[in-house]
Amino acid sequence: MIPSYDPNDTEAGLKLLEDLTSNAEAIQEQVLHEILSQNSGTQYLRAFLDGESDKNQQSFKNKVPVVNYDDIKPFIQRIADGESSDIVSVQPITELLTSSGTSAGKPKLMPSTAKELDRKTFFYSMLVPVMNKYVNGLDEGKGMYLLFIKPEIKTPSGLMARPVLTSYYKSQHFRNRPFNKYNIYTSPDQTILCQDSKQSMYCQLLCGLVQRSHVLRVGAVFASAFLRAVKFLEDHYKELCADIRTGTITSWITDSACRDSVLSILEGPNQELADEIESECAEKSWEGILRRLWPKAKYVEVIVTGSMAQYIPTLEFYSGGLPLVSTMYASSECYFGINLNPLCDPSDVSYTLLPNMAYFEFLPVDDKSHEEIHFASQSNAEDDDSIKEDLIVDLVNVEVGRYYEIVITTFTGLYRYRVGDILKVTGFYNKAPQFRFVERRNVVLSIDTDKTSEEDLLNAVTQAKLNHLQQPSSLLLTEYTSYADTSSIPGHYVLFWELKPRYNNDPPKLDDKTMEKCCSEVEDRLDYVYRRCRNKDKSIGPLEIRVVSLGTFDLLMDFCVSQGSSVNQYKTPRCVKSGGALEILDSRVIGSFFSKRVPQWEPLGLDS
Ligand code: AMP
Repeated sequence: MIPSYDPNDTEAGLKLLEDLTSNAEAIQEQVLHEILSQNSGTQYLRAFLDGESDKNQQSFKNKVPVVNYDDIKPFIQRIADGESSDIVSVQPITELLTSSGTSAGKPKLMPSTAKELDRKTFFYSMLVPVMNKYVNGLDEGKGMYLLFIKPEIKTPSGLMARPVLTSYYKSQHFRNRPFNKYNIYTSPDQTILCQDSKQSMYCQLLCGLVQRSHVLRVGAVFASAFLRAVKFLEDHYKELCADIRTGTITSWITDSACRDSVLSILEGPNQELADEIESECAEKSWEGILRRLWPKAKYVEVIVTGSMAQYIPTLEFYSGGLPLVSTMYASSECYFGINLNPLCDPSDVSYTLLPNMAYFEFLPVDDKSHEEIHFASQSNAEDDDSIKEDLIVDLVNVEVGRYYEIVITTFTGLYRYRVGDILKVTGFYNKAPQFRFVERRNVVLSIDTDKTSEEDLLNAVTQAKLNHLQQPSSLLLTEYTSYADTSSIPGHYVLFWELKPRYNNDPPKLDDKTMEKCCSEVEDRLDYVYRRCRNKDKSIGPLEIRVVSLGTFDLLMDFCVSQGSSVNQYKTPRCVKSGGALEILDSRVIGSFFSKRVPQWEPLGLDS
């Protein structure tokens, strides 16, 4: 089921893609057959299917329910606690992948198997011929990819729980990857695998700068991480250049594996290179800095779809016209699809699902709620009844122009699982549909890998209000909304609050300390991934509350109605994007306050 081919052979790779996409229907049938043949005896499936005769597609669809994470959480928790994997999977579950989607404030845990690493390796290998088809000469240099690992823990039963990319970079599949001239990186593995993200970043940038004349592409997984690296470079270029000049490495890099690997790349002092880099970085404007520092780079490889689209203007500023390339769409649950037209405009990116990665089904969703009027209130979709299970369709039967939520059955023990992503069908490549990523169901705010829902936000705001506004200030929070401010790096959450004295209509008296406590309380109440980004990854800045004058939310309503919202059904948007709504709010700010401390975060506790 997992084809193999030589990634140096572009033609063979493209031929394989043709085969996979042309035979999407048959491959999907085989995938489901294989999954059911292996797993119909698992405790989970036995409860719905009764044995041999029921392995066919139709009875699977009739009997196995479409589920959310909370439905399967008890099964996964039992495996984390040490029960046998065959509760959900015949192949042993070798680790749990911690998703950036959370349940009750903690990451969702996705089962994974040893074999799944083969499938991911295959998936990555399919990206190579696609890039080669559009960009020549990628075998003549290196890629500067800034890749990072995140904290991991062991479950009570000794299983590892960690993010999917940490799992992959630490695997033999990545570390012992066969030599392939299209995948030579400037970052030594030791710098990618360094636990300390600051040391990792410094060393990877140093290696990327030293080898700048060989770099043909630059990138990171997500746009947010890449921009963090640009900011880090801005803050540290003098130190980096000093290291290049002297051929040494700054003393605060204490990880010996990192030091050794970087020193072997530095190869002694290089005054000329240091001067060149320093003079580029010392320029007043950093417009086009990527092109100036890495003159042979042909593109920037970062995901800029979904919530990452907010970073496109900033990336364009730094990249100096280099194409922004989103190559793939994947998750902890499963890797889904690749972009077969990688040099297209970011707004035109579609992903073609590879039919051998999992069994895919699609729940039609209401087109209206996913129109791109982003200032309108999002649907509260955890229990979205507009989703009709009996209308679920297979991969090859989706309709162009329609919106769907993706549902997956994996080789690793997920059956008809709702991932939570809303996709729009943009066309077909052979028989395989292509999808634009529309949005994550019910996410209002996201800066990095955090995904804050309307409900998370409401709970956090409510706690702050209860604990700090009633006493002693006696203020009423009459309305609120939010905004992901990415105008500086790292970005941060902004809450717009309309506050009113409890007993009169005077402008509120705002006390700095009280308001700062509100900011911190909101942060304390946000979920695990938000707090990890804030506390550990430093990929989100301090939360800000901007208090707006009384009546501002009435004006916001007038604006939304003028843009087409219905007066009767008007609900305050809990999140605004840039544009008119933001201008209205920002022009009426009477006080702005920031959280003064970092929220607490500890590596995952796996209790249920
Ligand atoms: P995680 O489970 O933490 O690995 O996050 C996976 C989620 O990230 C997906 O379900 C999507 O919501 C989002 N995601 C992954 N790849 C893309 C992409 N190419 N474009 C937009 N969103 C993406």
